[in-house]
Amino acid sequence: MINVLVAGFKGKMGATTVQMIIDNPKFKLTAVYDLKAQEKNLNELIEYQNQDVIVYRDKEEIATDKIDVWVDFTHPSAVFENVKFALEHGISPVVGTTGLTAQQVTQLQEIASQRKIGGLIAPNFGISAVLLMQFAKQAAKYLPDVEIIEMHHDNKLDAPSGTALNTAKMIAEVRQEHIQGNPQETELLPGARGADYQGMKIHAIRLPGYVAHEQVLFGGKGEALTIRQDSFDRISFMSGVAVAVEKIQKYQELMVGLENIL
Ligand code: NAP
Repeated sequence: MINVLVAGFKGKMGATTVQMIIDNPKFKLTAVYDLKAQEKNLNELIEYQNQDVIVYRDKEEIATDKIDVWVDFTHPSAVFENVKFALEHGISPVVGTTGLTAQQVTQLQEIASQRKIGGLIAPNFGISAVLLMQFAKQAAKYLPDVEIIEMHHDNKLDAPSGTALNTAKMIAEVRQEHIQGNPQETELLPGARGADYQGMKIHAIRLPGYVAHEQVLFGGKGEALTIRQDSFDRISFMSGVAVAVEKIQKYQELMVGLENIL
């Protein structure tokens, strides 16, 4: 049985994860953590269960020796300290929260390697998003002019999305860096051409009604290719989270991307 703590359990992803952990016979929901948590928040989530789950509001109070895996769906401002805390206490982190900088990821990877602890940071736990990134990397070998459009609900805090950034990074592994569009182009409104990653433009849409969606557009001479994925419901991320929770303790490093453990 794998003992799991869910950080950010009151949130949209955290609450979905709590239900998935309870429903999976291989996992035990041992604790939940959320800055402003109250017992009643957990009872609201799992009122029909007779669970023995500890609710924490203060990280320092967590009985770390009773936890195997820390699932994090919190906030970009909290995720670095949370993952550092988990690693320093011998807990394997499974991280869905986006917003970690490259420098922070490197720092966390060093701690994990020193302590030989397995962990995963997945910008997207959806299988369709992982496939989109792999297909996009394949296509970019032949069609190196690329723009990315990511679309999310209007409560999302960071932009571009972790998935869009990861897509650009994966494409950059096979694409020679170059300027796209007209070198003389000017923006009549700042930001009109989007963010820039090695010459690839990334556009972030925020609208009510959306969950998480991405398009990668390739243009060649006389042809174009569009690859698109849609996450319509947060449940779509749960099979990826479950695989990570089940497998992560077998590793001795902190990896980035669900594809590393599939
Ligand atoms: P959300 O509904 O706002 O939930 C975040 C929860 O974390 C809230 O309950 C919040 O509490 C809590 N929180 C904030 N700071 C905290 C801290 N320092 N320690 C503990 N808990 C804290 O957000 P969400 O939609 O669930 O998304 C959470 C994260 O997951 C975001 O970064 C999002 O981009 C990411 N995400 C990733 C994937 C993926 O597949 N990797 C998919 C979807 C979303 P308060 O409300 O009291 O502030």
